[in-house]
Amino acid sequence: MELITTHTHTNFTNHGEGSVEQLVCAAKAAGITTLAITEHFPLSKAMDPEQYLSMRTENMPHYLAEIKQAQKKHPDIEILCGTELDWLGDFEDRVLDPADFAPFDVVLGSVHFVDGWAFDDPAERGRWDEVGPDAIWRRYFEIWCEAVVSDAPFQIMAHPDLAKKFGIYPSFDLMPLYEQAAEACASSGRMIEVNTSGAHYACAEMFPAPDLLRAFCRAGVECTVGTDAHTPGNVARGIEQAYQLLLQAGYQTVTVPTADGDRRHITIA
Ligand SMILES: [Zn+2]
Ligand SMILES: [Zn+2]
Repeated sequence: MELITTHTHTNFTNHGEGSVEQLVCAAKAAGITTLAITEHFPLSKAMDPEQYLSMRTENMPHYLAEIKQAQKKHPDIEILCGTELDWLGDFEDRVLDPADFAPFDVVLGSVHFVDGWAFDDPAERGRWDEVGPDAIWRRYFEIWCEAVVSDAPFQIMAHPDLAKKFGIYPSFDLMPLYEQAAEACASSGRMIEVNTSGAHYACAEMFPAPDLLRAFCRAGVECTVGTDAHTPGNVARGIEQAYQLLLQAGYQTVTVPTADGDRRHITIA
């Protein structure tokens, strides 16, 4: 079975390890055919004071150049040039020019912030106890739905239920919020990913949850697979299990974005 990952990181952000070259070599060794490298798009100094969460603006040209170089050097693997872009909602403090996104084959849309709070950052975890999970989960999906129908340049919505990362769940049934998220995503035409990294956090399951993935499938939302590797050794972690999860949710194909902005499909059934 063909293996793909459309979500990976490098040492271009301070919480990632390994160069572009090391990541590509690890992907080739694992038999991956399409690798999207999707470094965190720069945040402002106000949102990311330590420049820990995202790439420095001044490193962007080097990042793009290294990917280009890797594409030339490794024609035997499809390397997509990508970025993971935060949806900040009302807290957006950058001027995002469409031209900034022209170099990218793939833009992931991510909600890592709820009203300016990096809710999935272990350093910020205390706020979960202060605010309480019910309010956070409701607000998370509100923001997620805003992001998915926005005019941001997202093609793929990353880790759709990232709010579960620490394994803290609301007291209410999440199904109605899942249905809303699936409908919003379907109306936008965007795809989602199964993000395998969730299996290694406290939530101990991939993103999204099986019920949410089934809702996406019912709504006709296409799905790709990302390992969200922050080190080359994890580049292929869990891809085959992700295909199984897709099958169990009712999917028969995994979708892969292509460099020309189109999509191709791998049959998993
Ligand atoms: Zn992310
Ligand atoms: Zn990521």
